[in-house]
Amino acid sequence: MKAAAIAALSAAARAGLQVEVVAETGSTNADLLARAATLAGPVLLVAEHQTAGRGRAGRSWLSSPEGSLTFSLAWKFDGGPQALAGLPLAVGVALAETLSSLGQQVQLKWPNDLLKDGDKLAGILIETQSAPGGGVWAVIGVGLNLLMPDEMEARIGRHAAAVPWLARMERDALVAALLDGLATALDEFAARGFAAFSARWNLRHAWQGETVVLLDGGQVVHEGLAAGVDDAGRLLLDTAQGRIPVLAGDVSLRVKA
Ligand code: ATP
Repeated sequence: MKAAAIAALSAAARAGLQVEVVAETGSTNADLLARAATLAGPVLLVAEHQTAGRGRAGRSWLSSPEGSLTFSLAWKFDGGPQALAGLPLAVGVALAETLSSLGQQVQLKWPNDLLKDGDKLAGILIETQSAPGGGVWAVIGVGLNLLMPDEMEARIGRHAAAVPWLARMERDALVAALLDGLATALDEFAARGFAAFSARWNLRHAWQGETVVLLDGGQVVHEGLAAGVDDAGRLLLDTAQGRIPVLAGDVSLRVKA
């Protein structure tokens, strides 16, 4: 991949967003977070090979140079971190809509995963840091499987999805398309919040109407029918006690076996 080629194909880059490509790094999120205090504007950092990709709560995200896209986007928002509730879900909508425009239909799993045929296709990890002059930098990390060889699936330890059709697309063009979809969505999120995305999220909700359990530290804390998300990005669960809104902390959602 070439930064100049991605930038030439991206409207966001033409509007001033900086694009960088590195051959290998541990974590693109860690790299951009370390630079957040010195960033002058939004930056996309793409790693051809990410060796220590992170998931939520210290979990890891595996990738391969041939079969994965790994990148992070640093984006500054006004207000404090609380202004960013719902951002991972809005990012999911943006990625899903771009993939749809490229002919790949994917579904969303609350709070932060893209699924294809029921298996995880992409993960989103957002980390934040206060900006020196006010506001907050969000570093939005995305790992997307293009290919999923058996050997890698075995290392992950559960089924995972891929989009081999897109693996054949020119990488720079694919990254530029995902970047522009994200940039448009982030502007919209800054202006209107998650309310601009809730209906779009619900349209692609993987587990609508399914019986799900919510796990915290491996323990079931809630069980109910998944009823989509509200305008704040909370998951609505229809339980025996009635409908409850769930905030995305470090909880995991599973379809009930
Ligand atoms: P869940 O909500 O299912 O508990 P999570 O939100 O905890 O998932 P993340 O932190 O987003 O998961 O991602 C890390 C997890 O994703 C890992 O623990 C692993 O199971 C799985 N994983 C790691 N690499 C990949 C990959 N390339 N494709 C699909 N899944 C992966």
